[in-house]
Amino acid sequence: MKCPFCRQSNSHVIDSRLGKDGEMIRRRRECMVCSRRFTTYERVEEAMPMVVKKDGRREAFDRLKIINGLKRACQKRPVSMDAIEAMADRIERGIQERGEKEVPGSIIGEAAMRELHDTDAVAYVRFASVYRSFKDLNEFMAELEDLLNQRTNRAAPTPPRKTGAPRKARRKSVRADSPATSDPSGGGSA
Ligand SMILES: [Zn+2]
Repeated sequence: MKCPFCRQSNSHVIDSRLGKDGEMIRRRRECMVCSRRFTTYERVEEAMPMVVKKDGRREAFDRLKIINGLKRACQKRPVSMDAIEAMADRIERGIQERGEKEVPGSIIGEAAMRELHDTDAVAYVRFASVYRSFKDLNEFMAELEDLLNQRTNRAAPTPPRKTGAPRKARRKSVRADSPATSDPSGGGSA
């Protein structure tokens, strides 16, 4: 997005708002060269960044993929379609508000994990077990235990939460019924 004053294309987004019609995004930007501020209006579809996959390929942001990933994680769980769509909305908005041209797929995966964590424990673990590709069963069980402690024992002090940093493990899911075929970030490792 070119600065109207100095014509440089280095700007960062200060504020993003969805227009009333839901089709335009109004963005307040600050030029990183001359520091002046300006406003842009971008069509929602054009404002969505490209998703950078692990192997470096770029892919258009795909809301349906996110919905499908969430749906699979929530299979046979008491989570309504409305709740799933609301999660997808928040993830989508979060991505839009970054105001960047490209985002790593991991950002979307982590966002989905946060949403599921707040929605349904089983769905979260299903998703996380695949998404994070747990190193081994012990690590997986530790995470599960953490989660159960948090839920059953809210009064007691909880052990420090692990950071959301993606793990490097290569091994895939430890669950047979997990949503292994779908990666809502589009960042499948194949
Ligand atoms: Zn400028």
